[in-house]
Amino acid sequence: MTGRTVLVLGGGVGGLVTANELRRRLDAQDRVVVVERSRQHLFQPSLLWLMVGRRRRGRIERPLGHLLARGIELVEAEVRGIDAASRSVDTSAGSLAGDALVIALGAAPDRDAVPGYREAALDIFSPEGAAACAGALATFKGGQVAVTVARLPYKCPAAPYEAALLIDDELRRRGVRGRSEIDVYSPEPAPMPVAGPAMGAAVVGLLEGKGIRFHPGSHIERFDPASRGIVFADGATAGYDLLAGIAPHRAPGVIGASGLTNDAGWVTVDRGTLETGDPDVYAVGDVTTITLGNGKPLPRAGVFAHGQGLVVARGIAARFAGMPAPVAFDGTGYCWVETGAGRAAFAAGAFFAEPDPVLVLRSPGRIWHLGKVLFERSWIGGHWERRLAGAMLRGGSRVLGVRMDA
Ligand SMILES: Cc1cc2nc3c(=O)[nH]c(=O)nc-3n(C[C@H](O)[C@H](O)[C@H](O)COP(=O)(O)OP(=O)(O)OC[C@H]3O[C@@H](n4cnc5c(N)ncnc54)[C@H](O)[C@@H]3O)c2cc1C
Repeated sequence: MTGRTVLVLGGGVGGLVTANELRRRLDAQDRVVVVERSRQHLFQPSLLWLMVGRRRRGRIERPLGHLLARGIELVEAEVRGIDAASRSVDTSAGSLAGDALVIALGAAPDRDAVPGYREAALDIFSPEGAAACAGALATFKGGQVAVTVARLPYKCPAAPYEAALLIDDELRRRGVRGRSEIDVYSPEPAPMPVAGPAMGAAVVGLLEGKGIRFHPGSHIERFDPASRGIVFADGATAGYDLLAGIAPHRAPGVIGASGLTNDAGWVTVDRGTLETGDPDVYAVGDVTTITLGNGKPLPRAGVFAHGQGLVVARGIAARFAGMPAPVAFDGTGYCWVETGAGRAAFAAGAFFAEPDPVLVLRSPGRIWHLGKVLFERSWIGGHWERRLAGAMLRGGSRVLGVRMDA
């Protein structure tokens, strides 16, 4: 039998994990081809440290080629079209076809969805915006800080709250917190509503403990950069001196014409196998939509893209070998929430539990912050740093009895 080819579209979390696991499991003559338009792989969770000046950009990104296992072919190109039926793609570097196709193109920020956002906000989900926020905080003399979720959906449900807590910490460190107010505006009824009311109340408790005001149900109509104002749908307004913003996300445009999406543009998949409706076409990560037992969508988070990538790679390897898929994606996940002063809270849960996800939140502590730092280094550090941090993380998670795998 001659070798087969798996095309992996996207070299973010889901694509990288899928490709590396495929390379481990497939025969040497099988090809694994990753198509990615960015040369650098960015560790997105660390944008929040970049945002408060605790990281440099160069420390949180690395050439994708350095993170892919030997034997994976990297095509640096834009995916322009996907033909699911023939498992072929049109790219800026030409056409490619595979025996299996994995779509891992993520979610794209829509910075034009809310008028005035581009001009008003320091867009903390981009490296440029996060670095600009660090610059603004470094000279901030006190005033009104607003952290805004402009519209739904957005990825990483904890990010706005983590951002507010880290900004609080930075303002305290600089001695200007007493002259500042911090407000978080979100259309959500509570922080991380998918995780249930207890989790929402716990996060609100963390915010209130630092004097940060949370405004649930805030529907932002537009930003007015000239007057430094936020205008809400009910006519209310609020001011700001520094605005850390999160834009709404949408599925990448190239997915639209593939015939694999729901009305909102996200790729629908089997939640256990991540198969789309087309044979040998899979999708993982933020580009997908999975509805939970409580009717809410599975959050868009790297931990799920990671778990799904492993499942898909093992499923494809088994299929090529004529075996049944060995594992199903089980919807378990975890995340750290940095709370400042070198501490973090840690949440872990089973999102496929019925009728609601079941989550446990560990109180803020230095150990969780250390876990997050190790996770970051195990992901984006240099070769030896990655290996050492990964081993320490695995050892630590065994001792603590929690899943924190790199
Ligand atoms: C500030 C912040 C903090 C976060 N913190 C956490 C956290 O603590 N825990 C957690 O689990 N998650 C976190 N996340 C979310 C996490 O980063 C994402 O959910 C995760 O990266 C999703 O993986 P993915 O592979 O689906 O998409 P991505 O990692 O975004 O990768 C998609 C890739 O596809 C490429 N691409 C897109 N379109 C094309 C095209 N047409 N042609 C070629 N290439 C294309 C992109 O360049 C990108 O590399 C955070 C995100 C942010 C922004």
